[in-house]
Amino acid sequence: MASFTLHGISVSRGIAIGRAHLLAPAALDVKHYLIAEDQMEAEVERLRSAIQTVHKELQTIWSELPKDSPAELGAFIDVHVLILSDPMISEVPLNIIRTRYYNAEWALVTQIDELSAQFDEVEDAYLRERKADIQQVGERVLKVLTGTATTLPALKNDEEKTPRMIVVAHDISPADMLQFRDRAFAGFVTDVGGQNSHTAIVARSLDIPAAVGMSNASALIAQDDWVIIDGDAGVVIVDPSPQVLEQYRERQIALTRERKKLGKLKKTPAVTIDGTPIHLMANIELPEDCAAALDAGASGVGLFRSEFLFMGRTGYHNKLPTEDEQFESYRKAVVAMKGRPVTIRTLDIGADKPLDIAEQTALNPALGLRAIRYCLAEPQMFLMQLRAILRASAFGPIRLLVPMLSHAFEIDQTLQMIAQAKKQLRDANKKFDDAIQIGAMIEIPAAALTLPLFIKRMDFLSIGTNDLIQYTLAIDRVDHEVAHLYNPLHPAILYLLSSTIAIGARYGVPVAVCGEMAGDTRLTRLLLGMGLREFSMHPSQLLAVKQEILNSDLRLLTPQTRKILRAIEPKAIADGVERLATL
Ligand code: PEP
Ligand code: MG
Repeated sequence: MASFTLHGISVSRGIAIGRAHLLAPAALDVKHYLIAEDQMEAEVERLRSAIQTVHKELQTIWSELPKDSPAELGAFIDVHVLILSDPMISEVPLNIIRTRYYNAEWALVTQIDELSAQFDEVEDAYLRERKADIQQVGERVLKVLTGTATTLPALKNDEEKTPRMIVVAHDISPADMLQFRDRAFAGFVTDVGGQNSHTAIVARSLDIPAAVGMSNASALIAQDDWVIIDGDAGVVIVDPSPQVLEQYRERQIALTRERKKLGKLKKTPAVTIDGTPIHLMANIELPEDCAAALDAGASGVGLFRSEFLFMGRTGYHNKLPTEDEQFESYRKAVVAMKGRPVTIRTLDIGADKPLDIAEQTALNPALGLRAIRYCLAEPQMFLMQLRAILRASAFGPIRLLVPMLSHAFEIDQTLQMIAQAKKQLRDANKKFDDAIQIGAMIEIPAAALTLPLFIKRMDFLSIGTNDLIQYTLAIDRVDHEVAHLYNPLHPAILYLLSSTIAIGARYGVPVAVCGEMAGDTRLTRLLLGMGLREFSMHPSQLLAVKQEILNSDLRLLTPQTRKILRAIEPKAIADGVERLATL
């Protein structure tokens, strides 16, 4: 067969080479027949029992989740449990059997098609992607009804250490994704999905090369075809020529060598050529991620996204974490980091990170009751989190970081709440660090433009470039249709970033960057030139950023960065950044 190339969306970096393993195609193509009246209740029972079996399957998967699974996996299974329990799936198809005499499979597919059509009309990109969850749940029930075998083959022992199978599927359910963890798969390709799809999120946290949104890859690629995934470019090459295969093998070897080489920098202090020390911190979602942070040589945690402890709490885990449960998680993180600072961000829930128990009704959730706004509206819940964080501060250096602040009164209210939480702990004779450092995320343009309000009240600042870009350029960070406008080099962004860093330095208030920009090696020199001395990023990026730092000389970068900051034309900025790379 001739070689061909498919283009999609890159969700996870790296190169994977292997033979295609096609997951069973969507099982939604089923037999259609009518049921005799006296068979109707038996047919209803058949469907009900299949739904029950899937409930048990999901429960088993959930209870057998390895302790170090990414937090999202449990959350995704919970979403499937919720869907399965919804009368739209658990009741309506039974009524279709009773009223239309359809066989169980037909009744289920009819209802899933109906729900899918409704989702197609939803404007919200995140919600639209939940259509895939409904279909995956439907397929699971259909597989039980039709007795289809599981989709992933068993691996022989000797295969386990040499990953060379590339999973190709229309879509992969989060539950099936679980199996990637223990199996030697090199990567995956799916027809559907975007940057924000569940599979994309899991792939990133598992660090597996992946490309999604490949249209009809699962129809075009045949079982056992040779496949190359170029995760950096979002490209899949099928049946490559021996020359292309060889080129990619070389690139893959070079990447592995590069990673190994970077590994040697773990213990090297992050210091520029001119002798300026830089703090490289890790972003984590769960206390278990501290191991990766330490392994990458992080000098602390710059961002613990505590909302991951609160997400995916429905289904089998139908409540928010208690104060003690939270305290245990925070304590675990600070103990794991062995004396290095751990920056715990208070609940940043809302927008693309909804709380499962709170119905999201806002028309524009990114501009709605999000993060600190939500916390101030739910004082008991907020106080509970503050007490848990404060209690953990008795076990090691914790810094408390507050997201999405923009008004002076919000800062003041937050500080009052922290004072109240401290008093409650004092009254209860519980220990905490009274001098705990309190900081604000600078991620709303209004905050960056009124920095003295923050400087006066806060011990440190951390710039959330993901949201700062979203709000400054008015582009939804999860909407792929405006993804091309998401530009960290827009002069407005450079202005807000550089002025925040400069004002912080002038007043002696430490400023970090903890958004994705901090982990992008193409921007390291620019941020250094602006005066940034603390970077916080996903642990997998840390050593590459360190390498950039070791090769940077601030005496050269600083004047060149000043020139870039005076420019406003995109070309002048791009040329200037390119020049930085050569210094
Ligand atoms: C940011 O906005 O840059 C940030 C670090 O926070 P999050 O990505 O969790 O919104
Ligand atoms: Mg943010």
